[in-house]
Amino acid sequence: MQKQNKKCSFCGIEASIDVPLIAGNDGQICEACVVLANQVVSSWGKKKELAEMQGPLPKPVEIKALLDEYIIGQNLAKEILSVAVYNHYKRLKHESSQIGGLGSASGNVEIGKSNILLIGPSGTGKTLLASTLAKIVGVPFVVADATTLTQAGYVGDDVENILVRLLDVADGHIGKAEWGIVYLDEVDKIARSPEQAFGTRDVSGEGVQQALLRLVEGSQVKVPCKGRRKDANNTDSVMIDTRNILFIAGGAFPGLEKHVEKRLVPANTAIGFHLDISRSNLKPPLEELLNATEPDDLKRFGLIPEFIGRFPILAPLEPLDIDALIQILTEPKNALVKQYQHLFAYDGVNLEFTSEALVEIAEKAIIRNTGARGLRSIIENILRKPMFELPTRGNVEACIIDASAVKGETTIKLIEREEPEPVQQKAH
Ligand code: ADP
Repeated sequence: MQKQNKKCSFCGIEASIDVPLIAGNDGQICEACVVLANQVVSSWGKKKELAEMQGPLPKPVEIKALLDEYIIGQNLAKEILSVAVYNHYKRLKHESSQIGGLGSASGNVEIGKSNILLIGPSGTGKTLLASTLAKIVGVPFVVADATTLTQAGYVGDDVENILVRLLDVADGHIGKAEWGIVYLDEVDKIARSPEQAFGTRDVSGEGVQQALLRLVEGSQVKVPCKGRRKDANNTDSVMIDTRNILFIAGGAFPGLEKHVEKRLVPANTAIGFHLDISRSNLKPPLEELLNATEPDDLKRFGLIPEFIGRFPILAPLEPLDIDALIQILTEPKNALVKQYQHLFAYDGVNLEFTSEALVEIAEKAIIRNTGARGLRSIIENILRKPMFELPTRGNVEACIIDASAVKGETTIKLIEREEPEPVQQKAH
């Protein structure tokens, strides 16, 4: 009688030279089933990690209200982002709770990922919006400066490093990193623009766009895990699936408005015949032009069509005027004025800014043309001396910053604490 070959207890394949089996107590398993089991177990691990992040997802209106606590103005961008982020995580939460697990389609409809492109001047809150959103939904967040990135093989930061950092922020939890948010700053600088024809960025800029595309489109990327957490095969790298990572790109896109304007203003009024009707008066303001941005304008600016295609949601940010800057100084939960008042309060000093001083500070920031970004260094400069001296003086009750102190015309007004009268000794 012929001896029967042993079979894999899972898939039933017969043992042979090509199919060795690993024996267990009651059965045996083939290599293919070991690999499959490994995948299943690691997807359980990911699900467990995700379950830890599955707090209730705030609705778009709630997300916007939370953004309002930290970010002044930018209502259109806030609304667009609240909806985009809500839709993104609603889909992920739904898919991850389905049988079949991550990335499955809901019914027959596969809902695609919608990355977001923020367009607006520097210091208007693009990074702040992205980081606050990540806090609201409770996912890992990293900022990557597109200008420091290079295409693979060149000296500089490889785009894969973004994932290494995301994994780090996620404490090595792959599942969490795969649901993270990446903010790509200064993407306008990697454009292949005819206006930058003499720049060295031209060629590599396009190369970086191509390299980023691989991440943004969604792929399995091998990432070194720097001794943190090894995968089941105990290798020094892990695979990260970028399909569900939300990419928010941002840039000032200087000159983009010219492309929008060219498209919007009929050609015959551009040069020649109708030029005399004082075109500058008819010109729509920058915000309106940026609001009207279309993918074609971005192409003319120098982004490659594939890259633009991966960022279907465009959100414009408006430049900040004096009122907005004053609000930024005083209103958000962690407004600069509140932060410095806290710092002074530790030394028992009451820090006050007059409303004229705030206007003066905002005007300085506008002259610097750095949006709200310049506010901290302006205040830091004004307060340098009192911050140096007051902690040792100990007798100052209030420090008042007025407009002339901001301009440097007078010194800062200090009010000293009234010392208690020394008790008089009675003469006998
Ligand atoms: P961007 O990314 O647009 O260049 P940031 O988001 O980095 O600008 O802004 C720099 C800093 O300026 C922020 O950390 C924040 O303190 C402040 N800021 C900018 N815009 C706003 C805003 N709209 N509301 C509140 N603070 C803002």
